Amino acid sequence: MMQQSKVGTMGSRMPAAATPLIEVHDITKVYGEGPSAVEALRGVSLTIFHGEFVAIMGPSGSGKSTFMHLLGCLDRPTSGSYRLAGQEVSGLTRDQLAAIRSRQIGFVFQSFNLLARTSALENVELPMLYAGVAQKARDERAHTLLEQVGLGERMNHRPNELSGGQQQRVAIARALANDAPLLMADEPTGNLDSTSSVEIMTLFRNLNRDQGITVVVVTHATDIAAWSNRIVTFRDGLIIDDRPTREAFPGSAGGAGAPDLERQEASS
Ligand code: ADP
Repeated sequence: MMQQSKVGTMGSRMPAAATPLIEVHDITKVYGEGPSAVEALRGVSLTIFHGEFVAIMGPSGSGKSTFMHLLGCLDRPTSGSYRLAGQEVSGLTRDQLAAIRSRQIGFVFQSFNLLARTSALENVELPMLYAGVAQKARDERAHTLLEQVGLGERMNHRPNELSGGQQQRVAIARALANDAPLLMADEPTGNLDSTSSVEIMTLFRNLNRDQGITVVVVTHATDIAAWSNRIVTFRDGLIIDDRPTREAFPGSAGGAGAPDLERQEASS
């Protein structure tokens, strides 16, 4: 089912089937102290295996962003255990978490977060610059990644010379630069029109299906969640539902790309 990757080594990304990548056990997160303390997560357990495509849903204030910050090693839980790729990370220092992030996780944000005065090529090279990759290797890999996301013709354009969808493609190429096994996206189509949204979700779907990259997407939108294989729903700091996408949305193909969206893709 999996194809050979065109980018980087696949060893770290493609271990034996059914290996857990994310193992969260009974985590809590409390913001603040005393009477004003907010319990944003109240005991959440979840396992995500290598190669899954998971959508995190739930109403505003349900704890999705808090959970994504913890999964992304951007913050630490108040209590509980989090193993990422077999390593317990819940007690690590900020510097140790930063090192884990740079190896294990690529991030994609709603607002793209590209450097404005910098070309697409340089934006994609940046994580590799921080990781100490030599100039020539950086340059070659950034070219390959931008071609892979369909921006081979626009590598020297700056973000303001690109459409929203194209900027998000640059951000995805950048997220892939360190060959991380996990891609995390927070409302990645929140600033995009429907055609660009379909293009971006097609890209995630292909990266997941063809390269085995594990994808976790936070979204409010059911038509975006329908591209995943599994939908995890939060409410009031707890997971209240966790099921395959084709069960959650019986009309969708669940993971094969939602059929209605595929039709738009074909006609766009
Ligand atoms: P969602 O992403 O589902 O909207 P959040 O994780 O942002 O939910 O928020 C969960 C709860 O935690 C909310 O009650 C929110 O107000 C609270 N919260 C989130 N971040 C902070 C923070 N930095 N300080 C205090 N409370 C916070």
